Amino acid sequence: MAQFILPAPPTPSVAIQNSSARFAVRRIFCVGRNYADHAREMGNDPDREPPFFFTKPADAVVDDGVTLPFPLQTENLHHEAELVVAIGTEGTAIAADQALNHIWGYATGNDLTRRDMQAMAKDMRRPWDLSKGFDYSAACGALHPAAEFGHPMRGRITTHVDGALRQDGDIADMIWPVADVIAYLSNSVRLAAGDLIYTGTPAGVGRIERGQSCTIAIDGLSSVTTTYL
Ligand code: MN
Repeated sequence: MAQFILPAPPTPSVAIQNSSARFAVRRIFCVGRNYADHAREMGNDPDREPPFFFTKPADAVVDDGVTLPFPLQTENLHHEAELVVAIGTEGTAIAADQALNHIWGYATGNDLTRRDMQAMAKDMRRPWDLSKGFDYSAACGALHPAAEFGHPMRGRITTHVDGALRQDGDIADMIWPVADVIAYLSNSVRLAAGDLIYTGTPAGVGRIERGQSCTIAIDGLSSVTTTYL
């Protein structure tokens, strides 16, 4: 065992439905523009692009029910309701027809975004990292094991902010279904147990103000709520 000069950082993790055990997080990947209606609302052509990916730090994960400081350096914090896939079995260049075998489970997630910072990054052709990968930017509800829950192919996905409906889509409307996302991503990087993949958001992304609560829900999965001071 290595001797560390300072205590090793805590292992980021997410909750598991009906279990006191937790799922240790290795990496967090996110898909950009995976619903046509959201691609259009952001001014892009949904038909032309293969999926693209960005990342968040593993310690950006946040459980359901947490109250958080309002993020730094933004006046336009946005919610993005997303199906989260948790990888349980490692693989590189995974074929789409094998991809579901690599999944441990599913959760409801919120890919929180500093939209003003992201817009500036786009304008200046700079990286998105800090507009997406900031502290507490990856809210994740309890994971449901695929062994019991199966693999959701459709289901309503919603965002409510202080009770008001903001996003209302269906995970069946992903441009690139989960199996294709895993196939594409694993052609760029080795996936391994502990990886989370946020699979993109439907239309209706919008602002969360200080003092508000944001709840993401997907049919059959437990929801995730975060509240901002
Ligand atoms: Mn997103």
